[in-house]
Amino acid sequence: MTIAIIAHDGKKAEMVQFLNEHQDILSSKNIKLIATGTTGEKAKRAGFEVNALLSGPLGGDAQIAAGVAEKKVDMVIFFRDPLAKHPHEPDIFMLMRLCDVYDVPLATNPATAQLLLKAL
Ligand code: PGA
Repeated sequence: MTIAIIAHDGKKAEMVQFLNEHQDILSSKNIKLIATGTTGEKAKRAGFEVNALLSGPLGGDAQIAAGVAEKKVDMVIFFRDPLAKHPHEPDIFMLMRLCDVYDVPLATNPATAQLLLKAL
């Protein structure tokens, strides 16, 4: 299955910590990780194999949203920063909307993401 990971700047450290805490599941052979650009680079530096797409503000969220619509993404872990403004807000809403359209599990905080991974 393909899991998309995205973290806003204020949440990137939390994402790396989350990935490290769930390394056993996320590094298993049947899981493929994709990510927005900067999140992906950080995950790679932490030792994960990730397909890093464009950076979020440059279209990375939109690429992941397209993957959801094409049924190529099975789960989205998106640590949003609710205390910051984002120039690519429309792309963020599009991604979340398409997750709901296609009934794709979407976790927007570590507590929910942990529950989703436990269910795998
Ligand atoms: P980034 O994008 O991983 O390239 O920083 C995340 C986002 O802001 O959507």
